[in-house]
Amino acid sequence: MAKGESGRFVTITGPMFSGKTSRLIELLEREQYAGRKIILFKPAIDNRYSTVNVSTHKGITLPAVVAPIGKEALPLMRERSNSADAVGVDELQFWKSDSGVIEFLEGLSDSGKNVYVATLNRDHTGRPFENTTKALSVADEIHMLTAVCAKCGADATFSQRILNGKESFGKRIVIGGKESYEPRCRNCFVRPK
Ligand SMILES: [Zn+2]
Repeated sequence: MAKGESGRFVTITGPMFSGKTSRLIELLEREQYAGRKIILFKPAIDNRYSTVNVSTHKGITLPAVVAPIGKEALPLMRERSNSADAVGVDELQFWKSDSGVIEFLEGLSDSGKNVYVATLNRDHTGRPFENTTKALSVADEIHMLTAVCAKCGADATFSQRILNGKESFGKRIVIGGKESYEPRCRNCFVRPK
């Protein structure tokens, strides 16, 4: 996209293991190739790999600013976004739904910056994340990614939490990787009783 045009809001969504972070980084890299300055934010709750880099499952990393997940994040995010042409946010589902983060990001798009968010479509019980619902509504462009069902190999749009080899339910946010979650298709996904 050429400089001077108005910004756009791009929402990347899908289940775990669908390559959302990889797509986010790919799109931010394109901005860099076009000579545009980028900034990437990730939530302070997610310490799976590192507090200063966003890592993909393929092992590619970009430096990231770790931001709080409540309202208090906005002044920091505003200040750090000022000099950027493109703003990326990974794991948007973790921000509190009353943090105002979506409205803030939409404002950045209005002001001419390209905004890219990666966000989990559903929690482990199959319910949508509020931030994702909003981010889909305000998007100019949507990337709906799928993973591969761990049971049958079909396209997967659900993230099943697994504990000791069985479907597990409980707290909404439990940070984990391949040891705690697997992608499932709608047929194979087990909902809580
Ligand atoms: Zn399946």
